[in-house]
Parts: sequence; C-alpha cells; structure tokens
Amino acid sequence: MAVSGDVKFPHATLKCELCECFFNDEFAKNLHVKGRRHRLNYKKKYDPNLYVEPTKAMVRPSLPCCATHLYTFLFRKKRLRRRRNNAR
Ligand SMILES: [Zn+2]
Repeated sequence: MAVSGDVKFPHATLKCELCECFFNDEFAKNLHVKGRRHRLNYKKKYDPNLYVEPTKAMVRPSLPCCATHLYTFLFRKKRLRRRRNNAR
C-alpha cells in the first residue's frame, strides 16, 4: 500500500492549504479563515498590504491596573508619539 505525504487526520474533512490545518466541519473552517492566523499567512504569501490587526500581546503596554501605572502608561505613550514626530 502506497503511503502518500498527506497526513490524514481522523474526522477531519476540510483542510486549509495555506496554513496546513484541518477542520471537522465547514463552520470551523469558516471561523479559521476569518481568524488572525489564517490572514497573517495569507498576508505573508499573497498580499503584503492586507491589514491584520495586531494581537493584544502586540498592543503594549496592557491596560494599567492603578493610577501610578496609568500615569506611566500615558506618559510612555506621549513620549513615543513625540519620538515619532521627531523622526519625520
Ligand atoms: Zn488558513
């Protein structure tokens, strides 16, 4: 019996060729296609201009927990903006 390179996942009927992942049903696949990971892969392969929103981890710093942190949070943001303006 010939063994192909394809890995057959049990119960998985649908596959995303782009991300090499498998899905049990149409719903799961649709969810994946709308998801970030898929669009990131799409962006990498086909369309560098495609907008993919950053993850929460990438939008730093995360929301401050107290007044002191709120201050640093705002201050840092302002400083970043100023630095960006200077660069122009
Ligand atoms: Zn995909």
